[in-house]
Amino acid sequence: MSSATQDVAAPGVAAREAARRRTFAVISHPDAGKSTLTEALALHAAVISEAGAVHGKAGRRGTVSDWMEMERNRGISITSSALQFSYGDAVVNLLDTPGHADFSEDTYRVLAAVDAAVMLLDAAKGLEPQTLKLFEVCRAGKVPIITVINKWDRPGREPLELLDEIEKTIGLRPTPINWPVGIAGDFRGLLDRRTGEYVRFTRTAGGATAAPQEVLKPVEAFEREGDVWETALEESELLEASDSDHDQEGFLEELTTPVLFASAVQNFGVRQLLDALVEAAPSPAPRPSVSGERRPLDAPFSAFVFKVQAGMDTAHRDRVAFARVCSGVFERGMVVTHGSTGKPFHTKYAQSMLGRERSTLDLAYPGDVIGLVNANALRVGDSLYVDEPVEYPSIPSFAPEHFSVVRAKDVGRYKQFRRGIEQLDHEGVVQVLRSDLRGDQAPVLAAVGPMQFEVAAYRMEHEFGAAVSLEPLEYQLAMRTDPDAAPKLSRLPGAELLTRSDGQALALFVNRWRLSTVAREHPELTLEPLVGGR
Ligand code: GDP
Repeated sequence: MSSATQDVAAPGVAAREAARRRTFAVISHPDAGKSTLTEALALHAAVISEAGAVHGKAGRRGTVSDWMEMERNRGISITSSALQFSYGDAVVNLLDTPGHADFSEDTYRVLAAVDAAVMLLDAAKGLEPQTLKLFEVCRAGKVPIITVINKWDRPGREPLELLDEIEKTIGLRPTPINWPVGIAGDFRGLLDRRTGEYVRFTRTAGGATAAPQEVLKPVEAFEREGDVWETALEESELLEASDSDHDQEGFLEELTTPVLFASAVQNFGVRQLLDALVEAAPSPAPRPSVSGERRPLDAPFSAFVFKVQAGMDTAHRDRVAFARVCSGVFERGMVVTHGSTGKPFHTKYAQSMLGRERSTLDLAYPGDVIGLVNANALRVGDSLYVDEPVEYPSIPSFAPEHFSVVRAKDVGRYKQFRRGIEQLDHEGVVQVLRSDLRGDQAPVLAAVGPMQFEVAAYRMEHEFGAAVSLEPLEYQLAMRTDPDAAPKLSRLPGAELLTRSDGQALALFVNRWRLSTVAREHPELTLEPLVGGR
């Protein structure tokens, strides 16, 4: 061991590095401004590295050209799986939650690898469906939430009304860190509710650079903004009276959510978000294993795989497994043990992405993400470790909303078909459901997003040599039930019972109304939501 190597792995280093890390993801509905916010965050910070980046959004719709320039100059790409940057003494890991057309089970799985989430809302729209789904996954995983109300530079809703909606819809008590001065569309600045100061909004051309901060004392704020400042002050005082000040314990227990107002496109309110993340969001903590014990941060290296990405365009064997480090120090070249097979795994090819090209990653600490290339044996949920074995809990499978019957196009290739389906199921590419009625030749594939079917069909044909046909089913939701329900459900229209490969019985329904009718008419049936559930 060289002395340099000894230093990075010295006792206490992993815990010390973990303490300054914040690992989070942004949950939002498409178009709320996630990409814009990511760009804005990167502007405020020094980008260190990125892990991954295979499929991203094509092109950056409507974002400033300076960003593209910056992307070229500094070699960053926001399409990556994880973006790492430093902010003051902190190291921030921002994990991507793919949305839009590439919304899939992977989007949910990412949330198993973060310590906090930023819930980004459009000031004019409030809570939207995809945000709610992602929120439910966070709630199931006990991930604390910071709320950002974005696009305050554009006409939108009343701030108090937005807070009310948050509290009523998701049950978290909103505790604003700052308060907007000026209504949505007339964004003058922010009232910092902790210091009472006014952070004036100074526009920059297209939000190209981090806006300079002008901080004014309340008296000066009143002189400049008059009634508009008074209104903000009154509303903020009203909040104080209703127990809406930041509550760190409540936040960590997912009872409250700190709220910030921002305009990502103008780069305003973004520094406040970074400060809130550093001050309030938890740093990586010792992770419990299946035995319930927590492996200390300073224990030898361990990690779990939360996402596996197969390169669809390149050689089909090129697979990248993304793992979150849980303990110890990761050094490239390490030989780690792959928990589920007990076999050694060589990490010579551990990589991160810098710009559009892969670059190697040399060191990583708890909270960081490592991208392992050619990781064909690694599956979602697998544990990796050095020295003392550890097994982290598997990542739950999520409530599917899309269902398709899959069949081999060529019945003569049934053997390949069966092997392929088993493999895709095992890897978590899709969920596989079966019933005696449908038989083994025509199982049902279930997914969170339809893109998972495309990936499955592509791999069935190109990797397993069994081209498939997919026949979409009209079901839209699945509930947890017990196998005894089968005879009853099979007689009801608009419902069906299938068994997932992990043995869980699922009741499928064509829509929510059908479900409520069945639940009402058959109170004896167990029908429980699957959100984030096993
Ligand atoms: P995503 O789908 O959540 O990644 O959203 P984008 O970041 O692509 O933003 C969607 C659209 O909203 C783009 O046209 C952005 O320029 C715009 N946008 C994002 N943030 C803001 C904001 O703070 N104010 C305004 N006015 N527009 C914004």
